[in-house]
Amino acid sequence: MDYKSLLKKCTLCPRNCSVDRTQGKAGYCKATDELIVARAALHMWEEPCISGENGSGTVFFSGCSVGCVYCQNYTIAKGLSGKRITKKSSRKPMTLVIGMKAY
Ligand code: SF4
Repeated sequence: MDYKSLLKKCTLCPRNCSVDRTQGKAGYCKATDELIVARAALHMWEEPCISGENGSGTVFFSGCSVGCVYCQNYTIAKGLSGKRITKKSSRKPMTLVIGMKAY
């Protein structure tokens, strides 16, 4: 099954919204079938075994199915801030942090 089929009646998480994300609809997570990257950078503040000397390679995708009341990334999680990327360009954020020598 390809990923588009999974998004046609989305039950990817226990929220079971059953919305058709391929038609621009969004469920609780606010995500359609577009990828939105809010941040791709080195992250220095995880535990040393994760961050190492250079920092961990961190890519923040917008949208979230959880909804914690104390969310520290609300503008990303529910505000969908960031840049829309295509499936074709989806490797760019990862190659960017790899190029930064992420741990
Ligand atoms: S919250 Fe998002 S990922 Fe989860 S079922 Fe709903 S639409 Fe799908």
